[in-house]
Amino acid sequence: MSQPFKQPIAKPWIEEIAPYVPGRSTGDDGRRLIKLSANENPLGTSEKARAAFVAGAASLDRYPDPGSTIIRDALAAKYDLDPARIIYGTGSDEILHLAAGAFAGLGDEVMYVRYGFSVYPIATRRVGAIPVEVDDADYATDVDALLTRITSKTRVIFIANPNNPTGTYAARSEIARLHAGVPSDCLLVMDQAYSEYLEPEEEDGALDLARHAPNVLITRTFSKIYGLAAERIGWGYGSANVIQAMHKIRAPFNVTTAGQLAAVAALGDDDFVARSRTHNRRWLAWFESEIASLGNAGLRAIPSKANFSLVLFEGRLTAEAAYKGLMDKGYIVRWLPGQGLPHGLRITIGKEADMLAIVAILRDMCGQA
Ligand code: PMP
Repeated sequence: MSQPFKQPIAKPWIEEIAPYVPGRSTGDDGRRLIKLSANENPLGTSEKARAAFVAGAASLDRYPDPGSTIIRDALAAKYDLDPARIIYGTGSDEILHLAAGAFAGLGDEVMYVRYGFSVYPIATRRVGAIPVEVDDADYATDVDALLTRITSKTRVIFIANPNNPTGTYAARSEIARLHAGVPSDCLLVMDQAYSEYLEPEEEDGALDLARHAPNVLITRTFSKIYGLAAERIGWGYGSANVIQAMHKIRAPFNVTTAGQLAAVAALGDDDFVARSRTHNRRWLAWFESEIASLGNAGLRAIPSKANFSLVLFEGRLTAEAAYKGLMDKGYIVRWLPGQGLPHGLRITIGKEADMLAIVAILRDMCGQA
């Protein structure tokens, strides 16, 4: 008698994961499009970082430094940190997973905002924890709503500030108020992937909290303003206890040699970072004011502090039609029906010519709708 056919069965909490949807770079017909769908740097990469990356080819046969020492030392010098309290990862994505993996498990609760970063539910479910999605306040982080949902089972809270995909931002006083209400045995993860786009006076205080509070972890990335998305490098800072737990479960050689060299060079290229910030500030402000002028057609840009704008389509022109119309003209942006935003397009701030073209196309479509 033949045995019944058996196959590996994924855990039920893994089956429940809706896979991450990356920003596309091609159209439905396979055409390569101008990509404004993944919040990459339109100015490219620092030439110094590129040269350092190339130099990394000299030691392709060797494993990278498992301690990413040169990155930690450079970060420690730049921000006056203890290098022993820095974690590094294959993108800050890995660090988010490490945080959930080390501090939450079966039956625990992990909290984040509605319209939050789409990796949070994946990192939560991966470890069998229960996702708690908290209501927004007109798309922004609502500290009061978060505080009322904390229970004795809440182990991790993920807050992106500025947030993706909304671009919204919670001020320093709001983050302080949130932290004051978070139990000391619950890890508050402040995801600062876009923090370098903020003005100095907008600094949200999360790094200071991570210096002093035992239950705060910040995460940052080299993928955005540093223009190193291809190399997948992120880092985090927290108490020794938090960082040590995450080190136990990270992949052993999780940042490549070329990546370590490029990251250090990028950190030292203040000019490239300043130019990237200035470009973003200028074209984000311009784009938001152009969208405001299309308000009578039902378009609305949620005020953003990041390198993208979430545009809502609340009139005759739908987000889906605008997404397809932009694709026809050679642009791929991010339509977000899977994140509860079928009426929204997230548009990365691109090069000047591309911003002018996007607005002209939207204006045209509004006129025809
Ligand atoms: N956090 C937020 C809020 C993001 O938008 C992103 C990038 N999409 C990340 C983390 C992860 O970036 P990376 O893994 O490239 O560092």
